[in-house]
Amino acid sequence: MTRVGVIGGGQLGRMLALAAYPLGLSVTALDGSAEAPAGQVCPLFTGSFSDHTALARLAEAADVVTFDFENVPADAAEWLASRVPVVPAPHALRIAQDRIEEKRLFASIGVPTTTYAAVDDADSLAAALTTVGLPAVLKTRRLGYDGKGQRIIHTADDATAALAALGGSGLILESFVSFVREVSVVAVRGASGETRCYPLTENVHRDGILRTSVAPAPDGRFALQAQQYAIQLIEELEYVGVLALELFECDDQLVANEFAPRVHNSGHWTIEGAHTSQFENHLRAVTDLPLGLTDARGHAAMVNFIGAMPDRSAVLAVRGAHLHDYGKAPRPGRKLGHATVVADTHSALAAPLAELIALADAASV
Ligand code: AMP
Repeated sequence: MTRVGVIGGGQLGRMLALAAYPLGLSVTALDGSAEAPAGQVCPLFTGSFSDHTALARLAEAADVVTFDFENVPADAAEWLASRVPVVPAPHALRIAQDRIEEKRLFASIGVPTTTYAAVDDADSLAAALTTVGLPAVLKTRRLGYDGKGQRIIHTADDATAALAALGGSGLILESFVSFVREVSVVAVRGASGETRCYPLTENVHRDGILRTSVAPAPDGRFALQAQQYAIQLIEELEYVGVLALELFECDDQLVANEFAPRVHNSGHWTIEGAHTSQFENHLRAVTDLPLGLTDARGHAAMVNFIGAMPDRSAVLAVRGAHLHDYGKAPRPGRKLGHATVVADTHSALAAPLAELIALADAASV
């Protein structure tokens, strides 16, 4: 039996472990918290991601190590890679952890991205405002997620306040993209180099956090282009596993925002809505098994439950709904679970999706 180690025991690690059982794979997770949700379904080691003793323990318990979290220190991942195969290779983590490196990579492979400039003090901010213009978004280069560590800037005064609020250095100023919608592509590359893409997914965020995903995205005008960008990226990185590319769709083009070197929230719909879930395909890739089909089974919509879980019976009473409760303690802004509905047509998703959104909103008030 191949033993998979997962750095990070959050809901992504938990869903990886659940997907591992039918394949005859075993999963052991490492997390800083003994309460991490993966611990409900697989062995969980507790320890810091940069603690070599904890990492060595995971290496001993695993034939291959992967991660459910992109902010695992790349140095620690590289240290681990000298002891046990780490897949995807830590190189992808390193790039994804720095928004400037990420944008350089996009540019080098011809994937359009926002105009941007590095900001490390008041002078570089002034210069960046000249290059990038207003409105703009000031973000931390590293460790940002779910919209944390960023401020929208409309005026020069906003810029000064945002600089102070974000710590004054290690920042990036990006032009504000007036997108029509946000979309993503989840792609997978196997150990042999074979690549597959899931259908384009339409995502709605609120306060920087993903609320809903619909797939295949209605109006697939840019679907092939988005998938092509994801394949270019995954091939350039010689990546093995699942990767998600997040894009802004504008009137006339796609603009890449960022990529996540892991399974992704905008791919949760694939559990019920695709022939092979993103979790199973990630496991297949990292254990060198043949990839599964990424085609959709009809149309799917996913709603995140954030801050508080709605009533279980009410969710399950929604026609076609599947519930995923991560077993996490409620906290404002925390992703606690999600539900997915699958239907034969896109229009048949509207009613159950509206019901699930209403339940999610009522619970989180
Ligand atoms: P991020 O942490 O980069 O994924 O940003 C979180 C969310 O903030 C995105 O999903 C967008 O809704 C919004 N956002 C981030 N960057 C920009 C930008 N340059 N222009 C417009 N909206 C943005």
